[in-house]
Amino acid sequence: MTNYAPITLSMSEIRKSFGSLEVLKGISLDARKGDVISILGASGSGKSTFLRCINLLETPDSGVVSVAGETIEMKRHARGHQLAANHRQVESLRSRLGMVFQSFNLWSHMTVLQNVIEGPLYVLKRSKKECVEQAEKILDRVGLLNRKDFYPSQLSGGQQQRVAIARALAMEPEVMLFDEPTSALDPELVGDVLKVMRSLAEEGRTMLVVTHEMGFARNVSNRVVFMHQGAIDCQGTPEEMFGEQGSPRFQQFISSHR
Ligand code: ADP
Ligand code: MG
Repeated sequence: MTNYAPITLSMSEIRKSFGSLEVLKGISLDARKGDVISILGASGSGKSTFLRCINLLETPDSGVVSVAGETIEMKRHARGHQLAANHRQVESLRSRLGMVFQSFNLWSHMTVLQNVIEGPLYVLKRSKKECVEQAEKILDRVGLLNRKDFYPSQLSGGQQQRVAIARALAMEPEVMLFDEPTSALDPELVGDVLKVMRSLAEEGRTMLVVTHEMGFARNVSNRVVFMHQGAIDCQGTPEEMFGEQGSPRFQQFISSHR
């Protein structure tokens, strides 16, 4: 099925080195609205660095990052590489992205509810009443409304990760980025987090998901991208990729993840 939805995220020719180590070798990737793209690859292939380049937690050495109409091009300057963008543009780009990390990163001194309203309250400058109402709706969605007054340390890893997802959603991002959201969880807690992610996918959210969950890649995403040593080795629909059309290297990768 051809997808004519507008492109909401576009990464073009992204390069990044750490010292002499070239970690991203000119990666280009577009996501259309509603795309759920799974990014697979061995440890060290550059998946996290690529995601971090999208929200400019890492500054690419060159390339263009564009999210929902905010476009930032890396320009080469005499004294090295630099963003051809001001602080306002970077903030504007980041405001269109929600990010969920492997290690939840919740504020430990704040309750679940406080964690979720913090951004809308102080960044979006909405009224407290509005923020609380919205947060309660989102917490209900991720199945944690009855935990709103708990502190992160009183929750399981899976619950903390669902709070982290709720916190990202509260900022109403155009695109959600997930970096191995279930990798730090005990196996029995993975399912609840995947269920929330699946429901986000089903409501048409645009998502980039770095994951080792082959079931998610196969059944939830509509595109699978396989990275190898800082480049995209092959990509396609799950049917193509898991139906013998992936590269031999990808086939080897999935056979070690069964
Ligand atoms: P992945 O997420 O696929 O495991 P990463 O993007 O984390 O891969 O890392 C890719 C490579 O870049 C690895 O060799 C890693 O050691 C290196 N790397 C990542 N971040 C840094 C950094 N801040 N400084 C130096 N090397 C880094
Ligand atoms: Mg990583």
